[in-house]
Amino acid sequence: MAQLKKLHMADKLEDLEKWTEIKDVRNKSMKILLNTARKLYLTAEQYRRDGDQELAYITYVKYFNMLAAIREKSDYNQHKLTVRQVLGDTESNRRIMDTLELLSKSLSTRYEQLMPPENQNGADTMNLPLPPGEPIGEPSTLATTTPTYAQLGLISCEELFQRMQQNSVLVMDCRSSADYENSHLTYYCAFNVPEELIMPGMSAGKLQARLSSSAKAAWASRSVKESVVLMDWNTKDAQPAGNAAIYTLLDILKNWDPDVTYRSPIQILEGGYEFFIMMYPTHCTNPSVQPPQQNNNDIETIDDIEYPSINDITMKEDIMNAPNVMHKQRPSINRANKPAAVRTYEQSSPNQQQQQQPAEPQDNPINDIIRDQTVLLQRAHHNDMLLDTAAKKWQSIIELKQLHAEGAVLSYPEQEVLYNILQLESKAEDYKIENNRLRDELNRYKEQNAMQYLQNDDETTKRIESKIQERQQLDEQHERDRLEREHQLSIARAAKKHYKPPAETNAARPLTPTGDALNNAFNELPQTIVSEEPAIRPAYDRSTKPQSRNVETTAPRVRDFSPVIGHNVGRGLTGLKNLGNTCYMNSILQCLSNTPQLMEFCVSDKYKNYICRRNKTNGQVIEEVAALIKELWNGQYKCVASRDLRYVVGQYQKIFRGVDQQDSHEFLTILMDWLHSDLQTLRVPRQREVISASEKAWMEFTKSQESLILHLFYGQIKSTVKCVTCTKESATYECFSNLSLELPANANLCYLNQCMDMYFSGEKIHGWNCPNCKTKRDAIKKLDISKLPPVLVIHLKRFYADPSNPGAYIKKQNYLQFPLDNLDMKPYIARAESRAVTPKTYQLYAVSNHYGTMEGGHYTAFCKSAHYGRWYKFDDQVVSPLDTSNVVSSAAYILFYTWLPPMQLSIS
Ligand SMILES: [Zn+2]
Repeated sequence: MAQLKKLHMADKLEDLEKWTEIKDVRNKSMKILLNTARKLYLTAEQYRRDGDQELAYITYVKYFNMLAAIREKSDYNQHKLTVRQVLGDTESNRRIMDTLELLSKSLSTRYEQLMPPENQNGADTMNLPLPPGEPIGEPSTLATTTPTYAQLGLISCEELFQRMQQNSVLVMDCRSSADYENSHLTYYCAFNVPEELIMPGMSAGKLQARLSSSAKAAWASRSVKESVVLMDWNTKDAQPAGNAAIYTLLDILKNWDPDVTYRSPIQILEGGYEFFIMMYPTHCTNPSVQPPQQNNNDIETIDDIEYPSINDITMKEDIMNAPNVMHKQRPSINRANKPAAVRTYEQSSPNQQQQQQPAEPQDNPINDIIRDQTVLLQRAHHNDMLLDTAAKKWQSIIELKQLHAEGAVLSYPEQEVLYNILQLESKAEDYKIENNRLRDELNRYKEQNAMQYLQNDDETTKRIESKIQERQQLDEQHERDRLEREHQLSIARAAKKHYKPPAETNAARPLTPTGDALNNAFNELPQTIVSEEPAIRPAYDRSTKPQSRNVETTAPRVRDFSPVIGHNVGRGLTGLKNLGNTCYMNSILQCLSNTPQLMEFCVSDKYKNYICRRNKTNGQVIEEVAALIKELWNGQYKCVASRDLRYVVGQYQKIFRGVDQQDSHEFLTILMDWLHSDLQTLRVPRQREVISASEKAWMEFTKSQESLILHLFYGQIKSTVKCVTCTKESATYECFSNLSLELPANANLCYLNQCMDMYFSGEKIHGWNCPNCKTKRDAIKKLDISKLPPVLVIHLKRFYADPSNPGAYIKKQNYLQFPLDNLDMKPYIARAESRAVTPKTYQLYAVSNHYGTMEGGHYTAFCKSAHYGRWYKFDDQVVSPLDTSNVVSSAAYILFYTWLPPMQLSIS
């Protein structure tokens, strides 16, 4: 951004106001007004980029005045769609409003600094963030009102929830009485003003007379409550449109309720009850209720056109050619072609504002390097010692095993040593990368300071450099040791192929107290099935039919969790025993167990009301998962075994039956499918209205039967193909329960948004059958998210087939930097999704980690406990607290993000 221009127009913000007025435009045509507004917006953007804050401010305010004038016009309703196309939707205008707000704050501060000190007290009172408009509630005259978000009369779910906690708000729910009966807020100051009673032209008194006696009492409290909020199913806008009951009610309360003075302006809940249910299901009766579908006809026509111009698409090549980054900054991807609204938002983010500030003089980067190096060397040294001890132990095990020629059949404690080593190796890898980062940073520092290089500085850098080199030599030694161990392991594994293991892997788990038949259903599997398991992957076939359908479904199952009783074990902090390479399952199960909405659903037995028995898995998978999650949260066991779940899962998918290590991502994907189908009993009514292509595809996927799993984890991707010749666009939709992202090649350090940018950028395809040109054409294909799920699961494709060794996999060891808070998905969503009011920023709550190689690896989970509000490491049967700073590591394999707010758990 350009340097800020000197203030040249006024001495205080209010003085700018005289330039912001627009003339009476009631007689001008809509077309002219729209063009003018568009021009005002573009001009304002230009001024802002040029650093002229005053002119930018004036022009933005004029733009909003024009927008208000457009909305006042009598033919506005006929032109709503065009207005939205030309000037963006409420959401994009809100972003422009955010920019304006930042601008006015910055200007206020700058004016204040100009003022002599004695005047500053007086200036404070005038220091409003926005030019003063008309007081709320009075009829607004053209051109003077600048509506802010609050003035628009909307309240967010989060804010309403806060006020509910303080009992300071009265909520009027104006859905039909039938809908209200079916499901409503459990808040005691909420009541139903049925839409069938609300008529235009009514006074408040007349409406009151029609209410039920219990509602009358609540109605009477409207004058004493600090605030009143109206809600219906899904109103998103405070602008009166059409004749919806909620607006009639608003009108009655505002204009036809003379006896009552409201203590604050009446507000409308943004997104309505539909949105509230999603955010706070535990504060609603019957949270699984389905809202009636809205009529989306007015946006249908533009829904499928994603890219008006081919230049709007960021191409994969642009991203691949972007310089590889080793410094802690976003890669410089050209976003210049993204829609203006997005750009506005990004440029006004607080980070950017900070970057304008000059660096503090005492902030010498060399001090940072020294500090980072001290920390690194301490940690790395500690890790070296642990690794050394573990390696010695491992060496003695390997020698012993070779002596007995038993291959790699490892006892449980032996496996633990191996896993421990894998984890330490992974840490060592992180330290190596950190060391290289310090080297690069030091080199950059030297280049930058080549001119005023001081003797003193020189000595410091030499000292740092020698330590870096020392560390590099150690890292090289580690690498040689690691390769040697891998070599030993591959020899042992080859030996295992010729070695017939004794029945299952009894050695691989501690003996259970009772040895009866129920004890281990898994042991009863015919041995042949276990051993016929092919060693070559991937053997993953979704069409596999269940081996037997007549499993007991009526009799209550007696499950064997082989629990180890613990003392003062926290809720949800129970470990999972390793049943012979089942850590891939354990890792995923802990991530699911720490998904609060799913945990509640299982622990409270709610799931029992939604089980489907007519599907492939007979509802058995959800039963086993729920039973297990209950054990994990009862707070009594140090660890339990997931034997029954494993048995059921193995019944329906062969590859999960054996004792070989499997891919946790594959397991997760299949498990999600099964859980969804086991709970697919929420009936969605078929719609009469025309629905968008995205909704149609969604309905085809769900077959009008939905589930909690679907509502939590499933999203939808839109794939757009655009003909380069005629620019005809064609879209297809696909549902997903997780996103699989590629990692960039040849980059030790990369960023999650780099992977996202790659995934969601355009790709040239050749020979596309263009339906318009009726011949094969070159085209551009691009993905966008057309429906973001409340829980977004991201899989990092770390494994790829080794081209030189068929059947083998290579692992990408990139250290991926991903955010714990505020993962912003806005850049990757399709238009339709950008209109939805659901949040677009996510918080991390669980990570499935993978250490080592595909065949000889180990899985753990890092999860943020909703109960304790902190991170824990789930390493099979061991659960331990985890420092937040250790959540991001090069082992991260599957990331679980959510936008759902923390929920109050019913367990105590
Ligand atoms: Zn074409």
